[in-house]
Amino acid sequence: MTTRRVFMMQSVVGASALASGVAMAAAPMVAETDANAKALGYVADATKTKNAKFKAGSACGNCALFQGKPGAASGPCPLFAGKQVSAKGWCTAYAKKA
Ligand code: SF4
Repeated sequence: MTTRRVFMMQSVVGASALASGVAMAAAPMVAETDANAKALGYVADATKTKNAKFKAGSACGNCALFQGKPGAASGPCPLFAGKQVSAKGWCTAYAKKA
């Protein structure tokens, strides 16, 4: 295998890794109007909820299900596959991170 061919293959691998990274970053935010968001009482701003289950200080960012990086403004939640929730959001499935 020539050096040039190895270089080209590495470039292809690098480009696809980059593409998948971009795709993850571009995951759309959950809309409060989505059917499952309504079912779970999701709000993008926890302070705006009028749900009786809400306890002050609860938010996606400190929920055990939140999969965003610490300090990230948004991240994935397994309850909303393929979408991102706001770190300041909240839903009725909230579980305090241990
Ligand atoms: S389960 Fe947790 S992280 Fe997911 S939307 Fe509800 S409060 Fe946010």
